[in-house]
Amino acid sequence: MVNFVGAGPGGEDLITLRGAKLLGEADCIIYAGSLVNPALLKMAKEGCEIYDSAKMTLEEVIDVIKRVEMQGRMTVRLHTGDPCLYGAIREQMDLLDELEISYEYTPGVSSFCGAAAAINAEYTLPDITQTVIITRMEGRTPVPEKEKMHLLAQSGATMVIFLSSSLLEEVQEELLMGAYTEDTPAAIVYKATWPEEKSYRCTVGTLAQTAKENGVTKTALIMVGDFLGDEYKRSLLYHPEFTTEYREASK
Ligand code: SAH
Repeated sequence: MVNFVGAGPGGEDLITLRGAKLLGEADCIIYAGSLVNPALLKMAKEGCEIYDSAKMTLEEVIDVIKRVEMQGRMTVRLHTGDPCLYGAIREQMDLLDELEISYEYTPGVSSFCGAAAAINAEYTLPDITQTVIITRMEGRTPVPEKEKMHLLAQSGATMVIFLSSSLLEEVQEELLMGAYTEDTPAAIVYKATWPEEKSYRCTVGTLAQTAKENGVTKTALIMVGDFLGDEYKRSLLYHPEFTTEYREASK
């Protein structure tokens, strides 16, 4: 049996209860050492085999899982944040299907949630935007032509940019080709929810400079959009004049 588990964004108490229980039961843990907080490994039971997948290929990961499976033991494959974003889990699940090894998937708190918490932000504000775009700049992994950042930027919606903190000159350029201006508010959150978390408010025009001044080159999220500004409308859901399924409007 294999359990894919979301480790959460960093803070060691931000894994789910289910994830923590599975970590404690695992005979083998393969964790993404580049981003998973190693403090989580304290939950492992004695004798648990531990591997850092940052130093392994997909084939090596699957070989370990196969061997542990043949011994009738359980592996936790621990991914940073929630595995559904940039987690490379699909290719693992497909190989496990081929090998007829069963698995379950326990979600985690993604870093884009941790980063919002770090700066007390709400991505979806009435009258400002009701959409969050999660994307990245092209690196060695290509981004499909139709999803180039300047095209996504045309909506002016909230944008959360992963895997791109070393490419901020290009990010700025792409954003400015869309609906954002030099003055559109932006933020950089480094290591959200880790003890060394840092956050910087800036604008689209000063993203690259802000990262440079503060030495941020990795493990950061870039947030862009007017949700970081001061204007918005209050919600209808909690408005006294608005009737909902659960509450009558006051006259
Ligand atoms: N599955 C993960 C994302 C993995 S991609 C998730 O759900 O969060 C790795 C990228 O995620 C990093 O380059 C960085 O952009 C972002 N990231 C991961 N953890 C982070 C954190 N604690 N703070 C800020 N960004 C983080």
